[in-house]
Amino acid sequence: MDHVESVRIEDEPLLLTPGPVTLSARVKRAMLRDLASGEPAMQETIAWSRRYLLGLCNAQGTHTAIPLVGSGTSGTEAVIGTFVPANGKLLIHTNGVYGDRLVEIARRIRTPYTSFRTAPYTPPTPEQFEAAIAADPGITHVMLVHCETSTGILNPIEPIAAVCRRLGKGLLIDAVASFGAFRLDARTLSFDAVICSANKGLQAPPGLAWIVAKKSALEEAKGNAHSLTLDLWDQNQHLDRTGMFRFTPATHLLLAFAEALREHEEEGGIEGRHARYHRSWRRLVDGMRQMGFRTLLEDAVASPIVATFHEPLDPGYSFKALYEGMKRRGFIIFPGRLAAANTFRIACIGVVTEADIGRALEALAETMGEMGVVGMGRG
Ligand SMILES: *Cc1c(COP(=O)(O)O)cnc(C)c1O
Repeated sequence: MDHVESVRIEDEPLLLTPGPVTLSARVKRAMLRDLASGEPAMQETIAWSRRYLLGLCNAQGTHTAIPLVGSGTSGTEAVIGTFVPANGKLLIHTNGVYGDRLVEIARRIRTPYTSFRTAPYTPPTPEQFEAAIAADPGITHVMLVHCETSTGILNPIEPIAAVCRRLGKGLLIDAVASFGAFRLDARTLSFDAVICSANKGLQAPPGLAWIVAKKSALEEAKGNAHSLTLDLWDQNQHLDRTGMFRFTPATHLLLAFAEALREHEEEGGIEGRHARYHRSWRRLVDGMRQMGFRTLLEDAVASPIVATFHEPLDPGYSFKALYEGMKRRGFIIFPGRLAAANTFRIACIGVVTEADIGRALEALAETMGEMGVVGMGRG
């Protein structure tokens, strides 16, 4: 039997949403301890998690892993506020809802920035980044989303990182959706910061963001931060000195996070997790196409995190009825945050197997039948 299937609690609906995700019983059980913040067991849990994340990025020695209490957005805000100095300028690329959120953060915290947008269903090119940088000599940092969760598109990080490296710009990557299932190698990408959160591909409870930050860039960023709680330089120096958070650590979440990392390791690390997500995604996309649905993205640019489908044109269709029908059959699909009109999304992350996706496809066919929808997505 599939490892992940054997540890799930079966009586709750399965989350086919891109965060929070369904967790294993083992990760949830890891929270059943009350540890004081100064306890060696807590310090060791944090230290081990920091080392594991650095290992995933091949970043030992050059980088540091910094946990923060908050959702993924706290992590992106902390990175923008900490890394871009008042006399610097951030170039933000967006092709979806999460790229737009980076722009919104920069605007709200008054970080000097400029941004450019590309279509939600085609990846940006390194030439577009090069042109945007050439157009504004004040740019010091470049930020983009790796997997743009509002469509599932995978933005090509390697060639864009090569441009940043050649032109001497700091690279900040929102890898909240992709971290854990894709390799982001610090040696080849030479990023200043990668943001991830607990509750997506790392399959831990929501409430923690983690940043893998280049030590030299972080040292230069001392004193930049717009906020006390989101000051990554300060959080990092305190962790290095004391092994603990500056303020109350999310002790239960940190215990579950470390357990989720052990699970990640046992599944075969990034390769193992990517392979399972990819099997689920393949089954989903093939099964949906067999029913007549069309995907928003070409397979070549899609990631196995989440798939976006055009809604049926049939007048019997409504998203609300689809959502309710799926929920009654034990599956939660995602109701919002879309980059393209008249689409819906189904995610493949969390403790979900190809067999679960097979059952979700049956549930979807039944629900469509209930609505009287025929000829899905054609026309
Ligand atoms: C989920 C996500 C975020 C952060 O969202 P939160 O709701 O704050 O956890 C940021 N970027 C991407 C690409 C995401 O998928």
